[in-house]
Amino acid sequence: MSVPYLPSSMDALVWTAPCQMEMQRVPLPALGAGELLLEVAAVGICGSELSGYLGHNSLRVPPLIMGHEFSARVVQDTGGVLADGSTPQPGKLVTVNPLISCGSCDLCTAGLPNLCRHRQLVGAHRAGSFATYCAVPAAQCWPLGEGLNDLAGTLVEPLACAVRAVHHALLDADGPLLILGAGTIGLLCLAVARAQGVKELVVTDRLPERLRLAAAWGATATVVSDAADLALRAALPSGARSVIDAVGSHTTRARALQLVRPGGRLVYIGLHDEASPLASNYLVRQEVTLQGSFAYTPADFALALRLLAEGSVVPTPEWVEQRPLAAGAVAFAGLLDGSITIPKIVLRPQTLL
Ligand SMILES: [Zn+2]
Ligand SMILES: [Zn+2]
Repeated sequence: MSVPYLPSSMDALVWTAPCQMEMQRVPLPALGAGELLLEVAAVGICGSELSGYLGHNSLRVPPLIMGHEFSARVVQDTGGVLADGSTPQPGKLVTVNPLISCGSCDLCTAGLPNLCRHRQLVGAHRAGSFATYCAVPAAQCWPLGEGLNDLAGTLVEPLACAVRAVHHALLDADGPLLILGAGTIGLLCLAVARAQGVKELVVTDRLPERLRLAAAWGATATVVSDAADLALRAALPSGARSVIDAVGSHTTRARALQLVRPGGRLVYIGLHDEASPLASNYLVRQEVTLQGSFAYTPADFALALRLLAEGSVVPTPEWVEQRPLAAGAVAFAGLLDGSITIPKIVLRPQTLL
């Protein structure tokens, strides 16, 4: 691949300290062997980055360029192949699997690369995509096929997280599935469960506008979480066969255990609070299975790409809002203080204010 003209520095949204983020000119990322330089097209703000921004997240240490849900165009390569085995072409639009695993540890060889003992997340362990350029191993890049634009490309990663959570939730017998939280991950879990034929889907959130989205996406019942306990017991008289907690607060973790039926499964995917109390004796006596769900395997990622290509999830202005990268700090603050209620904000580094 010929080397295009490249600037020596780029614009980046840098998290400098808890609750502080600013645009800076920083050097272009250096390319390691097998890595691609990508020009970032669009990048979503993830819920885990909100807790990171507050300084509540042990994975992320400032100063850091976050950003791991993104689509980008290939600019320069160092000889690797893409995740589908194809060779990178300049200008090719890709989405990135930001979870880099070693491929050789016991967990990678057991088919659990998401739990790799040496895993690295783009935007946490190394610079991410809240910038005009980002460097990642070519093998982490999946070409976006016909019909998938750069906006859809930002949704593959969160959808892959939902694919894995729903996979865990559906391991047991039939019955109603309860999803706590109708933010992006909760909604995407709802879409995956619908695509997999789950009939009874109950969703809670504290925001009525998000519950309206959940109803439009096929939830069979929705409950405002301020009034949740009685209403949820009415909606789920025998308890849920599985509960996905897509929030991860003390409250939702406790509520999940109260509302699962004996012998059922809790899937914790939300990461809001670092540690929460648990009614352990109740869990023992009701034989409840507690399952964490983290990220995705390459198979989950590939299924997410297919679900997007099939139209199971469509980025529409009702739930996805696009802003320039320079408006990112304001978006982080607004998502945290509740003034932004739309579930997903996608930043565009190539768009000026
Ligand atoms: Zn994420
Ligand atoms: Zn590994």
